[in-house]
Formats: sequence, structure tokens, C-alpha cells
Amino acid sequence: MTTRFYSHPIYLEHLTPAGHPERPDRLRAIARVLEHDVFDALDRVEATLGDEATILYAHPAEQLERVKAQIPAEGIARIDADTSASPKSWEAALMAIGAANAAVDDVFTGKADNVFVAARPPGHHAEKTRAMGFCLFNNAAIAARHAQKAHGAERIAIVDWDVHHGNGTQDIFWDDPTVLYCSTHQMPLYPGTGAKNETGAGNIVNAPLSPQSGGELFREAFESHILPALDDFRPDLIIISAGFDAHQRDPLAEINLEEADFAWATAELMDRAGRWSNNRLVSLLEGGYDLQGLALSVAAHLGRLMKG
Ligand SMILES: [Zn+2]
Repeated sequence: MTTRFYSHPIYLEHLTPAGHPERPDRLRAIARVLEHDVFDALDRVEATLGDEATILYAHPAEQLERVKAQIPAEGIARIDADTSASPKSWEAALMAIGAANAAVDDVFTGKADNVFVAARPPGHHAEKTRAMGFCLFNNAAIAARHAQKAHGAERIAIVDWDVHHGNGTQDIFWDDPTVLYCSTHQMPLYPGTGAKNETGAGNIVNAPLSPQSGGELFREAFESHILPALDDFRPDLIIISAGFDAHQRDPLAEINLEEADFAWATAELMDRAGRWSNNRLVSLLEGGYDLQGLALSVAAHLGRLMKG
């Protein structure tokens, strides 16, 4: 099993206001834990800039231009109460898209079985026409469309275990039966969407969890909702919106998962990728705001991806 890992120094230059949880130190914490020799076999690749035109796979041209116009020449510009941009944010966002699309290319051309992308800014809150929730563009949605357009994939599944509902991904694929969107998330919690009865064209599977749910109910949500939906859908590619803010140490939520729960979910999705997708699995970092919880969770996730 070849596992690729994408990152790039530009991701550290997307700056947020002092005290903001979505900060460059998140990627430094991931880089530190990956120095351990158990990760020696990881195929580490530096990301390259994405093609700006691929943003249009998930967002209209006016939205691309709106975000571009909000990038400041200096300092930090507020896009909304939670979301901001700094001078290098455009390049970081394009590099995040570039890595996600390259990861898709890698699993379709056989350069890797699975890939983890440690990029910032994250993407799953970015709706078609709105940047929000620390996200500028929807990296997972763009990568899913890229798989369809560049590799002829028919059915893409996006599984989102970030503790927040991926309202952006749901918005983009709401009426598109070629993309299955499955999410576990804490409810009630930001952004407020993700109720069970939000089902789109039958392609949206929301499995909300109450605060303090813990690993057992998280696994049950996978076993009773998400894994059966994947088996019915038979995806050509599985994309994980891999947020690690459901970890018990995380300051933004109370689902109280442990890193072993992320390893378990990883193994289950690898099993489905083996069954339906020729092992093709692309995992994109979303949230995760306690540095230790994030690093331990990414280590468990990547360790499992590498084990095959
Ligand atoms: Zn989150």
C-alpha cells in the first residue's frame, strides 16, 4: 500500500487573527508527529498550485472573483466573523486545491493507493457562493468534480467526520446524485445544518450526534448509516473530509472521540475503498484545533492508511 502525503510551506502563510483556532501551528504539530520513524515509508510530496479554473467546478465565477478581491495587500481581512484572509491566502488556497486534485490524479494513475493532504485553509464549509467557517473554497467538492472530469469517475463518495456539518459540500451537491455526501457531526453546533431529514436527491446522508456521544455512538452512526450508504452507492472514489475536531481534547466541540475511533473509521473506509473503489481513497484535512489531539489523530489516521 503506497500512501502519499501532501503539504507545502505556503499553507503556514495563510494567517488568521491572534487567538484564532484555525492557525498555522496546526500544520507544524502534524509535521512534528510525522518525524517519527514509523512514518519513514510515507511518500512525501510538495503540493503544486492548482489550476484556478478548477475552482469553477464548485463555485461560480463571481464567487471566485469575490474571494480574490477580499485578499488584502497587507494585514488580515475579515471575510465574515470567523473567516479571514491574509496576503498569501490566495496562493495557499490554490495550493490546497492543487494538492487535492493531485491526490485524485495519484489514486487514478496508480501513483498511490491512498493520499492524505495536510493543507490550509480547509474547505467543507465553503458553499457555492459563500466563503465561511474558516473556508475559502471547497477543496473536497472541487476534487470530486476533478475525478469526474479528468478521470471519468461516475460516482464519488465524500465522507465527512469533522465535528461540524459540511454545509458547503452539502450545498454544492444537494441535487447531484453522482456524488454521495455522508456526514457525522455534533448537533446542535455550528453551522446548524445537517439534520437527518436533509437528504438532497437521496444522495445526502446526515448522521448527527448529540454532545457527549463518544466513540461508541460515532461507530454506530457509521455502521447503521454511512457504511450501508457506501455499499449501495458503490463509489469509484472515496474522499474523506478529515477533520479531527471530534477528538476529546478539542476546544470547539464535545463528541469526545479518541484517536482509536479515527483509526477505526479509516479502516472501515479503506475496506469499502477496497471493495468498490480499487482502494482509491483521498483524505483532506478539515478541522482539528487542539494541537496534541490533532497530531495524535492524524498519526492514527495516517498509520492506518499506510498499513493497507
Ligand atoms: Zn470542524
